[in-house]
Amino acid sequence: MSNSLANIKLFCRECRGEYFLGDLHYRCPRCGGALSIKDLEKKDSLQVVEGRGIFRYSRHLTPDVPYTTLGEGRTPLHLIEESGRKLYFKLEYLNPSGSFKDRGAALTIAVAKGLGIKEINEDSSGNAGTAMALYARAFGIKPNIFMPVNAPENKKLLVKLFGGNLILGRDRGEANRLAIEDADKRSVYYVGHVWNPFFIQALKTVAYEVYEEGIQPDEVFVPVGSGGLYLGMYHGFKELYNMGLIGNIPRMHVVEAAGYERVYPAVHGDERYPEETSDLADGLRVPGPPRLNEVLEALGESRGNTYVVNDAEIIKALKKLYKMGLFIEPTSATVYAAYNQVRDEIEKDRIVLMPLTGSGFKALDKVMKVLLKGD
Ligand SMILES: [Zn+2]
Repeated sequence: MSNSLANIKLFCRECRGEYFLGDLHYRCPRCGGALSIKDLEKKDSLQVVEGRGIFRYSRHLTPDVPYTTLGEGRTPLHLIEESGRKLYFKLEYLNPSGSFKDRGAALTIAVAKGLGIKEINEDSSGNAGTAMALYARAFGIKPNIFMPVNAPENKKLLVKLFGGNLILGRDRGEANRLAIEDADKRSVYYVGHVWNPFFIQALKTVAYEVYEEGIQPDEVFVPVGSGGLYLGMYHGFKELYNMGLIGNIPRMHVVEAAGYERVYPAVHGDERYPEETSDLADGLRVPGPPRLNEVLEALGESRGNTYVVNDAEIIKALKKLYKMGLFIEPTSATVYAAYNQVRDEIEKDRIVLMPLTGSGFKALDKVMKVLLKGD
C-alpha cells in the first residue's frame, strides 16, 4: 500500500470530521455525510505531465497513484452552429467503455490499486458499473457490480463481458443497499461512484480539456443524476478561474429527468414538475443523491438554472442529434432537450457547452424504438 496515498485526508462537509483515505470509509462514520478530498496543494497553472488518459493531469487529481489508464479522456469537442449560436458537444460517449464514467473509473481504480485493494463493490444504474468492471478487471481487481434489474440489457451484458460479477437488485435503491451490506460483511472496498470523491475529482479533466482546446464556454448544460459530472466540471472550471486562466466560471445548468428531479424542487420549492416519470433517461435514476447540497452551492455560485425534461422532449432532442451524426444513448439527449427549452433566451454570442455522456450502443433497443418510429 502506498503510504502517501493512505494518508490523504478526507473530510465531511456536514460535521467537519476528518479521516484518512486508508481508513476506507465510503462516507462519514459519524454523521453519514459524503466525504471530500482535503485540498491538495493549490496550483497557479494547469500542469500537464507525461502520462496517458486523464493521468496527463495527475498533479491536479491525486499524487502517487499508479497510472491505470485505458486511454480515457481527450474526447473530441464537436462544434455545431445552430441559429447563429455556437454549440460545443464534448463527445464523452467515445470513451473506452462508451461513457464519461471511464474518467472516474480510471482514478477510482488507480486509488484502489495504490491502496492494495483486491476486490471492489460498485452499484450503478448502468454506465458506472460498466466502466468500473472494465477498469477493475484490466488492472487485476475483482469487480462486483450491483445493478437494478430494470437497467438496460446492454449495460448488464457489458458488465458481464468485461468480467464483472453482476448482482441484480429489485431497483436502484436495493442495488445500493446490497452493495454496501456485502462490502461490510466481507470487508470488500466499496467504491460507490455516487459517494466516491475521487470519481468526481477525475471529472474535472473534462473542464481542463475544454480549456486546452481554447474554448471558454459561457453556458454549460450538464445531466444530473448523482451530480458527479456536474460537480467535477464545476470544480475544474473553478480551478481554472482561480488560476486566472479563464475570465469567469461558466453558468452551470442542472438538467434532470422528469420523475427523478431532486435539484429542481430544492430550488423552486417542493412541487413536482412535471407530473410524469421518464423511462428514457435511465442513466439519471439516482434516489437520494448524497451531494445535493454541494450541487446547490455550485449552482448558486455559478448562477446556473435547473431544467427538468420529459420523454417527449428527450425523443425530439435525440432525433435531432442523430441527424447531426451524434450516436448517443437517450439519457445523453437530456442536455440538448434542456437547451431547446431556453434557446431563444440565450444571446447569440454566448458559447454553449454540452457533454454527450453515453454511447448509443448502451441502449440500442431504446434508441431503435424511438428512432424507427419515424419523424
Ligand atoms: Zn460527518
